[in-house]
Amino acid sequence: MSNVHELNYLKENIQQLKEEGVYRELPILEGPNESEIILNGKKVINLSSNNYLGFANHPRLKKAAVDAVESHGVGAGAVRTIIGNMDIHENLEKRLAEFKREEAVMVFQSGFNCNAGAIQAITQKGDLIISDELNHASIIDGCRLSRADKTVYKHSDMEDLERILRERRDDYNNVLIITDGVFSMDGDIAPLPEIVELAEKYNAMTYVDDAHGSGVLGESGRGTVDHFGLHGRVDFTIGTLSKAIGVIGGYVAGKKTMKQWLSHRGRPLLFSTYLPPAAVAPITEAVNMLMETTEYTDKLWDNAKYFKEKLSTLGFDLGKSETPITPVIIGDEAETMEFSKKLLDNGVFVSGIIFPTVPKGTGRVRCMVTAGHTKEQLDKAVEIFQKVGKEMNVLK
Ligand SMILES: *Cc1c(COP(=O)(O)O)cnc(C)c1O
Repeated sequence: MSNVHELNYLKENIQQLKEEGVYRELPILEGPNESEIILNGKKVINLSSNNYLGFANHPRLKKAAVDAVESHGVGAGAVRTIIGNMDIHENLEKRLAEFKREEAVMVFQSGFNCNAGAIQAITQKGDLIISDELNHASIIDGCRLSRADKTVYKHSDMEDLERILRERRDDYNNVLIITDGVFSMDGDIAPLPEIVELAEKYNAMTYVDDAHGSGVLGESGRGTVDHFGLHGRVDFTIGTLSKAIGVIGGYVAGKKTMKQWLSHRGRPLLFSTYLPPAAVAPITEAVNMLMETTEYTDKLWDNAKYFKEKLSTLGFDLGKSETPITPVIIGDEAETMEFSKKLLDNGVFVSGIIFPTVPKGTGRVRCMVTAGHTKEQLDKAVEIFQKVGKEMNVLK
């Protein structure tokens, strides 16, 4: 018998990944995440980050972080519910609730653990969760931790959602409909007005994970709920502080009651040390900046429209994106990875995304345009796309 400590079963799995051609080494970024980066020692244009507003290395955020280290130290020192709750955490939540135009906000250590903690806390045995089939992995994991029954509706398909509500609503106490606000692989927006209407018709609650909508959609990045004017009609809105906001963290925005309950049953808040000052202060500064001006989100959308127009004029297939997320559909899995590699060789970093993350035959390189890109960088990226597109016969 082989020695279990050799981890041979994992070695076999890894070998399998290698045979499928999907084993990868992590790229190494030297220096900050910006529109142009040093990747594996080479200067390239970065079209792969979620740093939508260019905040990850913004001087105002950096100053706020440094000041907070001086005034509050480097660690929260405990979980929130014991003694990890500082005045700066309270200030952040007040400001964020104002920004989101909601009664209350509860901040978690990440978007991922926000879903892992919130969904299980707000649902119980005897409830039903109805989830969009393309919802994010952290929602899926969050649902697994819930004692409620779960079912899935076809992506953004309102007939399917209504069918489930009609057939099953009466068998449960509470029903919770969960959707991403913006779907990260295609950049399409959830049909939230229709979802909210169905929820109201069938007396169900709604939970929107707006990780890719916050800082992007709505007035100065207030999110998908604001974009559709649905304030007060979505029960739980989740956002991240790690994408557009540029730092780390996640939150639930909604009613005071939600916050009171989560501070007793939101497990990551009870069992995982709270966010450090150097994260909290720059997040607050970022929210302040968005409340001062729409210039950051304006620039993001201006850049996104510019880039998408150029690529689609060249003849690339951009799928059904309605947001700065710009998938360029290649199709075949191996060809997609080859396309991404050639882009990198020519000076643009765009990650290839293939099955099982997206359906077979819909491989794409996914471009993330940000407010931090200059027109020159975008022009250069388009030029490289054209060159590689012709070389690989993706463009005629
Ligand atoms: C990125 C993402 C998360 C996770 O957020 P982090 O703050 O990075 O942990 C959760 N939900 C969705 C829809 C996301 O896209």
